[in-house]
Amino acid sequence: MTINRRKFIKNLGIASLGVASSPSSIFANTHSSKHVVVIGGGFGGATAAKYLRLWSNGDIKVTLIDPLQQHTSCVMSNLVLNERQKLKNLRLYYETLKQKYGVEHLKDKVLDIDSYAQKIDLKHGESISYDKLIISTGIGFKKVSGHDFRKVPHAWIAGSQTNILKNQLAEMEAGDTFVMSIPKSPYRCPPGPYERACVVADMLKRRGGGNVIVLDANEGIQAEKHTFSKAFNGIYSNIIDYHTNVKINEVDSNAREVYTSDGTFEADVLNIIPNQKANRLLKTASLTDGDWAPVDPISYESTIFSNVHIIGDAQATNQPKSAHMANSQAKVCADAIVRSLYNLSIYSFERLENITTNSACYSPITYNEASWLTANFAYDGVSSMKLKHIGEAKEWSRENYKEMYAWANNLFFDSFY
Ligand SMILES: Cc1cc2nc3c(=O)[nH]c(=O)nc-3n(C[C@H](O)[C@H](O)[C@H](O)COP(=O)(O)OP(=O)(O)OC[C@H]3O[C@@H](n4cnc5c(N)ncnc54)[C@H](O)[C@@H]3O)c2cc1C
Repeated sequence: MTINRRKFIKNLGIASLGVASSPSSIFANTHSSKHVVVIGGGFGGATAAKYLRLWSNGDIKVTLIDPLQQHTSCVMSNLVLNERQKLKNLRLYYETLKQKYGVEHLKDKVLDIDSYAQKIDLKHGESISYDKLIISTGIGFKKVSGHDFRKVPHAWIAGSQTNILKNQLAEMEAGDTFVMSIPKSPYRCPPGPYERACVVADMLKRRGGGNVIVLDANEGIQAEKHTFSKAFNGIYSNIIDYHTNVKINEVDSNAREVYTSDGTFEADVLNIIPNQKANRLLKTASLTDGDWAPVDPISYESTIFSNVHIIGDAQATNQPKSAHMANSQAKVCADAIVRSLYNLSIYSFERLENITTNSACYSPITYNEASWLTANFAYDGVSSMKLKHIGEAKEWSRENYKEMYAWANNLFFDSFY
């Protein structure tokens, strides 16, 4: 299949959500010699795989590697905790990527990458070669002494841990104490932990009261400051006890106690969300500098190895670690890769001027009300992404709560369907 150059160029600048043109055909068979391997089928990886196929008109062979049959969305997973959402509804399957766009899904785990030979090693299958590699494997956690995830779940990667925490919370009674920690920035989903504090405070309030002790490693609220300050000091002032600059020293997972720079806290339910770093594979493959993987935001190509691109939570730019942002970065990255594989410049003035990314998070504040946060970035013309606009809901509302579902469905659809 030869690529339709005009249509292909027309589609390239489009980086925002839900605006890609539909494929005119089913891309069932690929005979191209160009092969892009995508590691990690979460928000970043799934979006990149889909748009590579769309924007190359099905010419590029795309192999998506993830050990799971489907991805479970962290987005909306705090709502599993108060049983307003079921985990099974947050499962996003790879079938449409396969059937509709011709993405090949390989159910395996990548153990290492040979960036010189352009090959990856799999846990079960034989090693595979790539022309371009995209990695979107998300986060890993820094070790906390005594922390056993099965007893004290972080529930910061949606799945079995979300259900463990949900079951523990279901047993809480009036007067009980929930203790949670907030990791040092940068971490996955800046408003997410504050949102979780509100969700649990609301549950306890409806059961007759209780305590939510929030141990923040940062010097203050990291996102939606106006909203969360108002909630913590207003409707939840009798429940939420917010501490700043707290260092977690050790956890007793059996006793549900946490030893910190601010003293010892005992909990009926303990939720330690550890400090974070790029998923382990990035370090194994020597793609990190410190905790995260440095990239050039005009293509998300690693600044350490060429032909390796890193998007989503694992990369080191100043943009928030969110699913919406991973989706946005995936499109910039797919655009750059398609251009590069067809010998078109990624440095055209028109393109550089139009590199924008955006992020949005909706946060449930009460049982049926939510707030939102949005941030837009644009390429600074030199080397980094510059924050252009940040917006926050004036107040939490039922209307926002409804919009949260529409926004999430749009994001799920644009990334996986
Ligand atoms: C409670 C909570 C609420 C959130 N709410 C929002 C929100 O409202 N809005 C928003 O935009 N974001 C939200 N987020 C953040 C969002 O979920 C993440 O930022 C997003 O998932 C990051 O995408 P990613 O592609 O980098 O990683 P992920 O989506 O985590 O995907 C990583 C994938 O890589 C795979 N993988 C890992 N290692 C390997 C390997 N070695 N080989 C092969 N595959 C591998 C995993 O199986 C996984 O499928 C929330 C997060 C949490 C925890």
